[in-house]
Amino acid sequence: MKKAKRLAALLLAAGMMVSMAACTSVSDSSSSNNSSSSDSSASGESSTGESSIDKIKAAGKIVMATNAQFEPFEYIDGTDFKGIDIEISQKIADELGVELEIHDVKFESVIAEITTGKANFAAAGMSITEERLKNVDFSNEYFSATQSIVVMKEGSSVAKPEDLKDKVVGVQTGTTADTYVTDEKGENNVGVKEVKRYNSFVDAANDLMTGRLDAVVMDDFPATKLVEKNADKIMKLDDELTGEKYAIAVPKGDKEMQDLVNKVLADMEESGEMDELLTKYIGEE
Ligand code: GLN
Repeated sequence: MKKAKRLAALLLAAGMMVSMAACTSVSDSSSSNNSSSSDSSASGESSTGESSIDKIKAAGKIVMATNAQFEPFEYIDGTDFKGIDIEISQKIADELGVELEIHDVKFESVIAEITTGKANFAAAGMSITEERLKNVDFSNEYFSATQSIVVMKEGSSVAKPEDLKDKVVGVQTGTTADTYVTDEKGENNVGVKEVKRYNSFVDAANDLMTGRLDAVVMDDFPATKLVEKNADKIMKLDDELTGEKYAIAVPKGDKEMQDLVNKVLADMEESGEMDELLTKYIGEE
């Protein structure tokens, strides 16, 4: 499989920056429930000219937004946050010599954490999409993923992607899996009977196991972890439905933050830490 290795090469390749077309920042979707002092303006600069990085250093903490139900990228183990994204985020905090604060929110709210200035960046196994690029910028990519289908081991009516047609399929709200099966434009020709949306893939998998769903569509590595934990009941099909790249989201136009994240990712690649991290959570495969 060697996805991690392929990505390492990708990351090192110069110029693999995600599109940074100079769109104007998101218009004011932030004002409604912005309880913080809105440190991170979309440009990364306040009227005093202080950059977002200066403000983070002054505050002594950097805030990461995530949804910690996505093992092996982010999950809760006892009382601790763990996972690949958590460790990368800790490196980002260490680079600035500040504390890491984690905002664990619904996946569908992760981008809003950034646009409202509540979080400085988001690391959430988040795939780069055109839609998201309207509201945030992304770092260089650090992982390749695909959507997979999870079904019951016994008696499943779904054995291949075409079988999703006319079935009841579960996804996590606002994810690329949601986009894939919702298929409003008919691009994927999935044609499911009904999409059931959940706050987490874990909840979707539970509904699959109690017979409320015919299948769950979700990212491949979190699917593998879920299947490992319920190996007597569910399994993952081999088909790869999409090709996606995970990256870290930063405020739109905040070049300094984007450069910082890219530096940390590049350093981790060069030192071999990224490979070690992926092996630790995912294994060699
Ligand atoms: N990679 C998927 C997406 O970006 C799912 C991410 C997640 O659920 N944390 O939509």
